[in-house]
Amino acid sequence: MSEKNGGESFHMTPGEFRRWGREVIDWIADYQETIERYPVLSEVKPNEIRDALPKKPPARGESFATILEDVKRVVLPGITHWQSPNFFAYFPANASGPSILGDLLSAGLGVQGMLWATSPACTELETLVLDWLTEMLALPERFLSTGSGGGVIQDTASSATLCALLSGRERATGFSVNEDGCTGRLVAYASNQAHSSVEKAAKIAGLGRRNLRLIEVDENFAMRPDDLDARIQEDIDAGLVPCFVCATVGTTSSNAMDPLRDIGQVAAKYGVWFHVDAAMSGTAALCEEYRYIHDGLELADSYCFNPHKWMFTNFDCDCFYVADRAALIQTLSILPEYLRNEATKTGAVIDYRDWHVPLGRRFRALKLWFVIRHYGVEGLSHHVRRHVALAQEFASWVSESGDFDLAAPVPLNLVCFRHRGGDEFNEALMNRLNSSGKLFLTHTKLDGKLTLRFCVGQTMTDRTHVSRAWDLIREEGARHLSG
Ligand SMILES: *Cc1c(COP(=O)(O)O)cnc(C)c1O
Repeated sequence: MSEKNGGESFHMTPGEFRRWGREVIDWIADYQETIERYPVLSEVKPNEIRDALPKKPPARGESFATILEDVKRVVLPGITHWQSPNFFAYFPANASGPSILGDLLSAGLGVQGMLWATSPACTELETLVLDWLTEMLALPERFLSTGSGGGVIQDTASSATLCALLSGRERATGFSVNEDGCTGRLVAYASNQAHSSVEKAAKIAGLGRRNLRLIEVDENFAMRPDDLDARIQEDIDAGLVPCFVCATVGTTSSNAMDPLRDIGQVAAKYGVWFHVDAAMSGTAALCEEYRYIHDGLELADSYCFNPHKWMFTNFDCDCFYVADRAALIQTLSILPEYLRNEATKTGAVIDYRDWHVPLGRRFRALKLWFVIRHYGVEGLSHHVRRHVALAQEFASWVSESGDFDLAAPVPLNLVCFRHRGGDEFNEALMNRLNSSGKLFLTHTKLDGKLTLRFCVGQTMTDRTHVSRAWDLIREEGARHLSG
């Protein structure tokens, strides 16, 4: 057997795969051990990566050693290190050893799980793990697959919200938009702090951005149910058809918690589909003391959260639940001749192709199953508690500092704060901190003011990283003031 690249068949032989596979695993382990040496935010200029690589694709295959060399030489400088313990930007996209290995195994099996019949394990493991998660997060029983609901893994919360909106649209119109197209009379509702994916969904679903009502928030940036009620009534009076309400558990900007129970009651009063987006913060419900964030969730028609944000599971992995799977399936179902099979016909199996937009699907349940089994509920909740405690400690330093103020309540692991020096000052401060390479944090606008966001959720972040970050922020703030 040839050990040259590809041999005569051009393929990588199992022997070569074994060798390079070990090399890549070693590479990743080395990366994990040395990640803090790299500037967290990539320092490359636009086009720098492209320009360092050949303009033309290779006519002849290259050795794997050369390819890996280029990863180090060219790709790595263009990486922003999301897995660095000094990453405090946006919301995290954390990961873990068992998750990486689960993802690798999924690639190795190379399964396409569109139907139960195209790999029964891909479907059944997913159904089981999503049922497990309802117990782990104490989600309402109506989301269990053993009743009339069920869960499915989607790529992202954006896709989950789109599917929820489509289902709401169809339920409100007796599934007639599916047949005849949109009428321009359908309306959706979310707070003015909701994620941009709701607006995107309204555009894609054919409602139109103008038919998305952005509801007022209170002083804590949480949706006001009275304003929601008034806006729905107004629209009904105007002959429009409300079809979708989206509440957020942990808004992206400030981690605000919309009052689910009150919003759910308004949605129920008008018979409107009620979706709850808990993209990052849903994970907190692993811990009993944070389960209040889901109070009222039993009123929801659908719910999603992202294990790929805060539950140590590699991007991409969003868990999407519905209380009535029939509505979702009827909205998205297709059955061309070439997909017909006995198992589907008997109705005894789940075909996840009808639960999301794409037909094909990866075996994502594997990495989630690995993570849950490796850590156990105990390990996962331990780390969530740890992150929240670190963020709370950071918040206490901010409020005691004299130079900085908290800009919003800190229910979990996101701290919104600003220096008293004003917008320009805060922006310059952030840019200087990020270009130091020692940490990465991002900003938002709250009450019209530029606000710094510090989110603790990276897998390996510990107290040293958080306290060093605070020292840097304080020192840079003081230097900046005197300079
Ligand atoms: C991050 C986030 C999203 C979008 O997440 P994707 O999975 O990348 O689509 C949606 N909603 C909220 C509240 C978020 O924080």
